[in-house]
Amino acid sequence: MSTYGKKAENASLKSIGLNNVGDTFWNLTPAELVEDIVILGQGVVTDSGAIAIETGEFTGRSPQDRFIVCDSKTEDAVWWGDINKKFTPENFDALYDRMKAYLTNRELYVRDAYACADDEHRLNIRLVAEMPWSSMFAHNMFLRPTDEEISNFNPDWHIVCAPEFMAEPEMDGTRQHNFAIINFTKKMIIIGGTGYTGEIKKGIFSVLNFILPHEKDVLSMHCSANVGKDGDTAVFFGLSGTGKTTLSSDENRRLIGDDEHGWSDNGVFNFEGGCYAKTIDLSAEKEPQIYNAIKFGAILENIGFEEGTRTPNYADTHITQNTRVSYPIHHIDNIMVPSKGGVPKNIFFLTADAFGVLPPISKLTPGQAMYHFISGYTAKVAGTEAGIDEPVTAFSACFGAPFLPLHPTKYAEMLGSRMEKHNVKVWLVNTGWSGGEYGTGERIKLKFTRAMITAALEGKLDAVDYTNHEIFGLAMPNECEGVPTDILNPKNTWDDKAAYDAKANHLANEFVKNFKQFESAANEEIMEAAPKATVNA
Ligand code: ATP
Ligand code: MN
Repeated sequence: MSTYGKKAENASLKSIGLNNVGDTFWNLTPAELVEDIVILGQGVVTDSGAIAIETGEFTGRSPQDRFIVCDSKTEDAVWWGDINKKFTPENFDALYDRMKAYLTNRELYVRDAYACADDEHRLNIRLVAEMPWSSMFAHNMFLRPTDEEISNFNPDWHIVCAPEFMAEPEMDGTRQHNFAIINFTKKMIIIGGTGYTGEIKKGIFSVLNFILPHEKDVLSMHCSANVGKDGDTAVFFGLSGTGKTTLSSDENRRLIGDDEHGWSDNGVFNFEGGCYAKTIDLSAEKEPQIYNAIKFGAILENIGFEEGTRTPNYADTHITQNTRVSYPIHHIDNIMVPSKGGVPKNIFFLTADAFGVLPPISKLTPGQAMYHFISGYTAKVAGTEAGIDEPVTAFSACFGAPFLPLHPTKYAEMLGSRMEKHNVKVWLVNTGWSGGEYGTGERIKLKFTRAMITAALEGKLDAVDYTNHEIFGLAMPNECEGVPTDILNPKNTWDDKAAYDAKANHLANEFVKNFKQFESAANEEIMEAAPKATVNA
């Protein structure tokens, strides 16, 4: 069998036991990959030059099918449970043996790439993929080695991704036919039964969320980050759909990255080399940077088209609400090169509150910052995860529990000490509903959210007066440039004030219930930041 493309002379898939594969295509360029995708009938070229593919049965991540191998390396370190599900080393080996058999004589696309823009923490990754678009996705999303680096490339980690290989749950120990399994000892991620590309990037994110805090005292964060004209770094934590990608793409600030970052003694650095944006209802007016990034090199996923054309119709959700595009970060004009910034001056916690209870922006005390970070409240918006069709209340510790192998207090303590040391300003931003809950109210206008963030970043919220929220105790600015004053206090936007109070009490009780599991690890200052429900709704 032959090898094509660029690779290190000694590079071989035999090192991971793949001995009898078919032709292998190493580090093909996007142009070559696009040709293969089209020839194989797996995608079409759109009129902006991007390639559009469909990921198949799965159009979002499947958190319930994500496992970590439990062995001497992980047994005592990982926070096991519903999020970090155990997989035995024996089952891993047996399942991987079956994957190897499946991959025999198949054509494979290999991609050498790395994670972490800070050289000190660089992690070399080799993806071995059944599909050409998986290779192109890894090229877009991870950092791209130079030709010279490829000629000397030594992978630290391998990802084997075979969407059409199906597990047999009874034999393989999986939950169903799809799986993503991380093995820290073998330094390997195996993905099967799903073509959703997000599993590839979030697999490596989970790996870094273990290695960096556990072994290197670097805080890993599920956040976007950008830098202002004065060199001030801002980071935006938030669960899926809360606006990390959208709000970090700001024409007045240079983008560091849209989803995964580390915070070391030197400041903030991106793990990735690309962005993965939602395209639902995307428009050039509202999100010009993302819109214009969709050109040759970008991969659109699961979108629809204007009938009879190759023009994407971003309102078309016939496949999924979670339509996406991946592109290399340089498709955005205004970026930091390399993808690094100083210690953050401002931190935003983004939450898409489907109850319409939380204020659109509020300033947090250190205790509140810890409380809200550990709580990680949002509503899961349809799409990114299988089975979510309308917003569902969710608490996800550290705004990223599905990707965090360690106990949440580990990340919280690391963030807390850094926030205190550097006197960081922390804001809670509700990018969700206003004027009523989901169904009655409306999502807060993007232009208002942007104006509130700009005001915070420019120090314009430092001198204004604040009102404390009755139940949540959050400090709400009484005015904000570019934003109608009456929306700043959410109660004002509800016609029915009693209904607002009832919803706010309900949400406060949900917070309190959720926080019980963390009480033993929280100090008095954090506990005082809990919302005070006035009735047990
Ligand atoms: P993921 O972790 O899945 O990548 P994310 O946090 O990056 O999620 P975005 O991709 O930025 O989330 O998605 C936010 C979505 O919400 C976009 O489609 C955006 O257009 C829409 N949106 C609507 N109103 C707002 C608002 N006020 N603020 C932010 N986003 C908004
Ligand atoms: Mn994003």
